[in-house]
Amino acid sequence: KLAQFPFVRELDGFDFEAQPSLDQGQIRELATCRWIAHGDTVLFLGPPGTGKTHLAVSLGREAIRQNYNVQFVTAATLVAMLAKAHSDGSLDKQLTILSRPKLLIIDELGYLPFEANAAHLFFQLVSRRYEKGSILITSNRSVGEWGSVFGDPVVATAILDRLLHHSTVITIRGDSYRLREKRRSGLLQ
Ligand code: ADP
Ligand code: MG
Repeated sequence: KLAQFPFVRELDGFDFEAQPSLDQGQIRELATCRWIAHGDTVLFLGPPGTGKTHLAVSLGREAIRQNYNVQFVTAATLVAMLAKAHSDGSLDKQLTILSRPKLLIIDELGYLPFEANAAHLFFQLVSRRYEKGSILITSNRSVGEWGSVFGDPVVATAILDRLLHHSTVITIRGDSYRLREKRRSGLLQ
């Protein structure tokens, strides 16, 4: 009912040899979903095309198999939902709805900078879910850059303080897998 993944991917289809910056054992541990049982946070950080969404979807599907409620949303959509609820006077209701899934996956944080007030709305969501439900975030920005993503270093610090308290941060390096595939098939030099 929830979820709304952008595509279907499984961990079995992930080529770990193509991504040596990743610790396969660490990803397999995440696939046990123990972190979700504890309400912990996972961050996948890295450049575009390095498999962040693939891993997020795979872990989300694993969580569903283990009977957790999962919701997948892009950061842009999430912020738009919160902003609309705020202007409607239904923010509290929306925060309650977004706090229900045991795992909330927020994809692509940092591609678009947050508009004024969005950081405060995001902070309220993170606070509401804090130590209750898990959040998995993917971002092309390092946490050091989140101040500029949120447009407010003070709120960014407060958000990170909560997110990083019980968290696994996985930083992926390397080239885009999409471009690598193109290069291999001779479409790119
Ligand atoms: P990101 O979210 O980091 O931008 P994606 O997860 O969307 O990247 O990956 C881009 C595409 O490449 C997807 O179709 C994904 O399944 C595939 N992909 C990326 N990395 C790998 C990998 N190591 N093994 C298999 N497929 C991969
Ligand atoms: Mg992605």
